Amino acid sequence: PASEAKAMMEAHALLKRFYHHLLVHTKEGQAALDALQARGWTMDTIERFEIGYAPDVPDAAAKLLESRAFSLVLMEKAGLLLKREDGRYVDRFRNRVMFPIHDHRGATVGFSGRSLGEGQPKYINSPETPIFRKGTLFYFFHEARVPIRKRQEALLVEGFADVISAVQAGVDYVVAAMGTSLTEEQARLLRRHAETVTICYDGDRAGMDAAWRAAEQLSALGCQIKVASLPDGLDPDEYIRVYGADRFVGEIAAARPLMAFKLERLRHGKNLQEEGDRLRYIEEALREISKLSSPVEKDYYVRQLAEEFSLSLSALYEQLSHHKREQP
Ligand code: ATP
Ligand code: MN
Ligand code: MN
Ligand code: MN
Repeated sequence: PASEAKAMMEAHALLKRFYHHLLVHTKEGQAALDALQARGWTMDTIERFEIGYAPDVPDAAAKLLESRAFSLVLMEKAGLLLKREDGRYVDRFRNRVMFPIHDHRGATVGFSGRSLGEGQPKYINSPETPIFRKGTLFYFFHEARVPIRKRQEALLVEGFADVISAVQAGVDYVVAAMGTSLTEEQARLLRRHAETVTICYDGDRAGMDAAWRAAEQLSALGCQIKVASLPDGLDPDEYIRVYGADRFVGEIAAARPLMAFKLERLRHGKNLQEEGDRLRYIEEALREISKLSSPVEKDYYVRQLAEEFSLSLSALYEQLSHHKREQP
């Protein structure tokens, strides 16, 4: 019911302030605050994202919520508390840096808690609840929505830290999914707000593969896709720390059309001097080219292939016709 959802959101808002206070103003939060500043995040950034710290005690949140007359049964349903075997309620998040997650109207509906240092699991997210449905939300969408609309472009990154560092670097049209692959609903949401989506996932293998999948999904909905691939397996947050904000902005500006990204991925690990690999590359490239809807774009890439491998256009077009209207 609506009143339960409202109470859940109020509880999240209360804990967000509580955790933020602990991070910024108390001794308990000092180590976490030091770690965030060592990451390169300024106090302004920490304030802007309302980052917090969940203390290393079993029931700090439970006690606070109880003292404010929240139903602990409801708070368990909201994902904030866990019920122990002995019937007592304890906090879900302990000794973690807390990133509040907002819905599109700006209500606080969930948290992601990061371990300090190398503790596993690295991130714990709120579970699915009536107010927190991961597959429908993006991190930072409530703030990025206006800049995204204005530019007709969204920058899609993998992690919370990537969003935060991008914003600190001056790129505010940025969002991240919740550490899962894009859902249909998320893809549609982006499409509704922007013509172009620039994908800048982690520069490792997993990130590249995920970028390819997200790109296919979004382009099927008619988004223009560009892909920025970062070197040395870096993610945007790490890249900004190593190379600075200006070079990151440059990487985003230099993002390439989806087909250029795909062709590079298809080349990867092949030796094009070698006949078998070369033929396989041409075949795979044609398969991707066949998925393009614009005849002009198709022609552009077919000609590029023809030139690079000294092939006749007619042979390539004949081969291409075998792929006609193949689905991605
Ligand atoms: P950091 O920079 O803080 O180490 P990251 O964002 O680079 O974090 P990745 O390992 O690249 O972390 O993962 C990308 C995203 O996937 C994270 O931001 C988080 O949303 C999600 N994620 C990572 N590890 C987990 C986990 N153990 N459980 C749930 N989600 C996770
Ligand atoms: Mn990663
Ligand atoms: Mn990462
Ligand atoms: Mn990272």
